[in-house]
Amino acid sequence: MSTETDLLQRVPDSLFIGGRWRPAEGGRTLDVLDPATGERIRTIADASPADGMAALDAAVEAFPAWAATPARERGELLRRAFDLVQERKEDFALLMTLEMGKPLAEARGEVAYGAEFLRWFSEEAVRVAGRYGPNPEGTGRMIVSQHPVGPCFLITPWNFPLAMATRKIAPALAAGCTVVIKPAELTPLTTLLLASVLEEAGLPAGVLNVLTTSTSGAVSEPIIGDPRLRKLSFTGSTAVGRKLLEQAAQGVLRTSMELGGNAPFLVFGDADLDKAVDGAIAAKFRNIGQACTAANRFIVHRDVAEEFARRVTERVSGFTVGRGTEDGVTIGPLINDDAVSKADSLVRDAVERGATLRTGGEAVDGPGTFYRPTVLSDVKPGSEILQAEIFGPVLAIVPFDTEDEAVRIANDTEYGLVSYVYTESLGRGQRMIERLETGMMGLNVGVVSNAAAPFGGWKQSGLGREGGVEGIHEYLQGKYTLTPDPF
Ligand code: NAP
Repeated sequence: MSTETDLLQRVPDSLFIGGRWRPAEGGRTLDVLDPATGERIRTIADASPADGMAALDAAVEAFPAWAATPARERGELLRRAFDLVQERKEDFALLMTLEMGKPLAEARGEVAYGAEFLRWFSEEAVRVAGRYGPNPEGTGRMIVSQHPVGPCFLITPWNFPLAMATRKIAPALAAGCTVVIKPAELTPLTTLLLASVLEEAGLPAGVLNVLTTSTSGAVSEPIIGDPRLRKLSFTGSTAVGRKLLEQAAQGVLRTSMELGGNAPFLVFGDADLDKAVDGAIAAKFRNIGQACTAANRFIVHRDVAEEFARRVTERVSGFTVGRGTEDGVTIGPLINDDAVSKADSLVRDAVERGATLRTGGEAVDGPGTFYRPTVLSDVKPGSEILQAEIFGPVLAIVPFDTEDEAVRIANDTEYGLVSYVYTESLGRGQRMIERLETGMMGLNVGVVSNAAAPFGGWKQSGLGREGGVEGIHEYLQGKYTLTPDPF
C-alpha cells in the first residue's frame, strides 16, 4: 500500500462529538478532493444542523469540569499533543499537501508553525493572572480575576489547515473553554487527524468537538444563535466575517475575526535589493499566494522598479509547477477552479489597463487547478488587482516617486492585516511603523507569523489577536470584585 493510501485510511472519517467518533445524521457523506489531480481522496461524514446541536450540547456539558481542571493539567495535555504532532509531523505534512495542494516542504513548515501554538499555549495556560489592591479611597479592596469565556465555536479556512486550527484550539483549551470546531469543507482531514491526536493526548470527552460539513451556513447559524454559546472565533474572508458578525450581534457574542488582507510590500530606493527580492518571493509565493498575509501589491520606488521587476521575474520563471508531493515542486495547485478564474481575470484586467506581463499569465491545462506563477509590472491605478485579495501566484508591481505617495497607495484599501517594508534607513523604517495602517509589519523581513506574536489586523482585516501573550485573553473574561476594607 502506498504511503498516501495508508495515511488517508488512518484519518478518521467521522464526526467527533462528546468523545465519540460517529457518522453524520442519516449517514450523509462528503468527498474530499486532491486539487492537484481533481480526484477524490477520502469520503467523510457530512454534518447536519442536528449534528451541530449535538456538538454544542457536548461542549456545554463538558465545560464546567474542564474550566475547573487545574491549568497545569490543561497545559500538560496541550504539551503532550505538541509532542504527538511532532512525532507525526510527516503524516500531517503529507495530509495537508494531499488535501490542500501546498508543496511538501511548505507543509512541513506549517506543521512546525502550527504545532508551536500547542506548545506556546501549554506554557501560557499557567500564566493567567489577576490583581488585588486597595481602591483609591482606601475604603475597600479591588480584585480582578479572569475566567474562561465558556463554550466556543471555531470556524477555520482551507489555506492553513493545521495552523488555523491550533491557533484557536490551543488558547481556548488553555483558558478552560470547550470548543466546537468547523474546518472548511475543502480541507477537513487535517482537523480530524488533529482531533485524534488530542484524544490520544488524553482530552476529556466533549472538550473538543469536530463538525465536518458541506453546508457550513446551515450548520453554523443555529450554533451561533444558541444562547449557550459564548464565543465565536472565525478565520476566513471579510465577506463571510461580516455576515457572521451580524449573526453574533443577536446574542452579543464575544468574537475574534481574522479576515482578509491586501498587504502592501514597499521597496524604497535605498533598499538592499537582494534582500527585497528574497523577501518578495517568500511574501508572495508561500502557500501558492493563498495566504491572508500574502503580499498583494508591490509598491516599488521608480528608480529601482525595473531592476526589481527583472530580478523577481528571473526567479519566478525558474519555479517548478506541479503536484506538491513531487520533488522540486515550488508551486502547487490553487484550491479550485474558482481560484484559477479569479487570478486569471485579475491578470487580464491589469493587462487591459496597461500593465506589462513579464511571465506567466495563464492557467495550466488540467487535471488539477494550476495557474502559472506570474509577474506584472507598471500596474495602473484603478486596476482591480490593487483592491482585490489575489489569493494566487501573481506578483503585481506599482511604481512610486515619493514616500508620501507610497504611504497613500499602501493605505488605500479597506484591509489592514500586514505590510512589508524594505529600506536601509532606520528613520524611514520608524516612520513606516507610525504611518502604515496594518496590525503587523515585516521590516526587511518577508514572513512575520510566529506563535509568540500577536497576529491580527486593523480596519476590515479583523478583530482580536491570535498568538502571543494576547492570544489567551480572547478566551478569558475579566471580573472585578469589590470587598470592604478589611481593617
Ligand atoms: P471563507 O470562504 O470565508 O471560509 C472560511 C470558513 O468559513 C470556512 O470554514 C467556510 O466553510 C466557512 N463559511 C463560509 N460561509 C459560511 C457561513 N455562511 N456560515 C458559517 N461558516 C461559513 O474563506 P476561505 O476561502 O476558506 O479562506 C480564505 C480567506 O481567509 C481569505 O480571505 C484569507 O485572507 C482569509 N484568511 C485570514 C487569515 C487571518 O488570520 N487574517 C488567515 C487565513 C485566511 P466552507 O468553506 O465549508 O463553506
